[in-house]
Amino acid sequence: MRRFAELCERVAATSAKNEKVDLVAAYLRSVPVEEARHAALFLCGRVFPRREERTLSIGGATIWEIVLKIAGVPEKRLQAVYRTYGDLGDMAEEVLQAHLTENRLSVRDLAHALDRMSRMRAPSQRQAALEELLRSADALVAKYVIKIITGDLRIGLKEGLVEEAIARAYGVQLDQVRRANMLTGDIGETLQLAAQGALEQARLTLFRPIAFMLANPIDSAEQAVREFPNGALVEDKYDGVRVQLHKCGREVRLYSRTLDEVREFHELYPHVESLPGDFILDGEVVAWRDGKALPFHELQKRLGRKEPHLWLALEVPVTYFVFDLLYLDGDELLDRPLAERRERLEVLLRDASSEHVQLTPAKWANTAEDFEAAFREALERGNEGLMIKDPQAPYLPGTRGRHWLKWKQPLATLDVVVTAVEYGHGKRRGLLSDYTFAVRAGDRFVDVGKAYSGLTDDEIRQLTDFFLRHTIQDLGFRRRVEPKVVLEVAFNNIQRSSRHESGYALRFPRIVRLRLDKRPEEVDTIERVEEIFRRQFERGPQ
Ligand code: AMP
Repeated sequence: MRRFAELCERVAATSAKNEKVDLVAAYLRSVPVEEARHAALFLCGRVFPRREERTLSIGGATIWEIVLKIAGVPEKRLQAVYRTYGDLGDMAEEVLQAHLTENRLSVRDLAHALDRMSRMRAPSQRQAALEELLRSADALVAKYVIKIITGDLRIGLKEGLVEEAIARAYGVQLDQVRRANMLTGDIGETLQLAAQGALEQARLTLFRPIAFMLANPIDSAEQAVREFPNGALVEDKYDGVRVQLHKCGREVRLYSRTLDEVREFHELYPHVESLPGDFILDGEVVAWRDGKALPFHELQKRLGRKEPHLWLALEVPVTYFVFDLLYLDGDELLDRPLAERRERLEVLLRDASSEHVQLTPAKWANTAEDFEAAFREALERGNEGLMIKDPQAPYLPGTRGRHWLKWKQPLATLDVVVTAVEYGHGKRRGLLSDYTFAVRAGDRFVDVGKAYSGLTDDEIRQLTDFFLRHTIQDLGFRRRVEPKVVLEVAFNNIQRSSRHESGYALRFPRIVRLRLDKRPEEVDTIERVEEIFRRQFERGPQ
């Protein structure tokens, strides 16, 4: 791990891309493939491969506490160092110099430890494991362990450059590396294939599921027009379970987003088996009756049941809405534009005579009015919003990009008051840009979430100024502030949570706007949060 950390230092020290690639290539060549595989992943600032949706769930506050404990310095000192760098890893390196001197951690140890940590349920367990990990590192290594965990090495190395380095290290074609990385969704596996001269094995193979293409969220028709000024394809956003379907001969298998086999939807098989050819489909299985979606909790009744259950299948019928075709009779279609994939899909499904397997209807939208109307109609059909897709885009497995946008109906918005703030990273370094917010519970405020997107840079700068002057307690990384600033936040749903005193947490909150017109006493109440929480079970989660 020491060599890995030194490599990162050298990569950071040069701004020449070519030199960065050379340094990484030389390093990868010089270590065993098994080690290079993990290193490639870490160099992309990833803990786990892109194809996995696994995360570590270790936040900045936990890292802060552990570093404070190991360094044994007064919190004030940590705060001062943090402010100099605006980065937890750099901060750790400086304060841990005197404490962590001998490194015992290898790249492989780190990979295994992170894997174990991701399986731990209790935050306290993860915290203890991270502490043990850092104690086996020296200060420089600890810095990079923390940077890997926070997801950004900040050494000016994008995944594209790591791909180049792999090509250079093993003398293979860059476009083959890129393609394999796209198909496997795993830069480590890609490296291994490159080292074995087996990149061509990274093909679309029936019954080997690949990562799903993902969408970026938007909130308004105006945003849709901004992203797609020349128009785009729109489809309903179904609220079900994403399923990749592979068929070869008469054999059919379904796979979930985690790439595990899905066995719950027996009634779909006969309708797919009778279709001609071998293919891979992408779509959403939805609880559906009489042309309308049933709430998601209906579909949930069917999840996790491996044995066929006749009356349940009758009570909660499902339809597979197919929206993409990735492979057909020997042709890999990932690189083909969506419009072409869809055309072939239409032909393929022409003979699907059942309600259980349907082509997802799509239409063209150009103007804000078109997007708005399509969004409303989707909601009227009981769906959760709109998908907006670039007809020219290839299918990019495991990638969340601008080619696909999703626009969901926010459950509601809440007016909340900011109670604590944290410094941001990167371009927001030195600015108080992460806001913990609360609702009213009697004469107190109780936290319900944390948001960091939605305000303009200028608003954040002004708020930083304001919060610095209205701090109640300075924790360095975080400040408790006087409850004065009111925000309107949107969110996807509400969960029960032990993280906040309120017992609830808003999921995917984003700031809609500053409510300078509202006083803190006027923010929403915990009763309102409870009401929305209960209501989502009546309508199905959003
Ligand atoms: P989210 O789960 O909120 O990130 O939204 C993306 C998900 O929407 C995808 O993973 C699919 O499961 C689902 N989805 C529903 N309808 C569509 C559609 N027409 N096209 C693509 N994804 C869809």
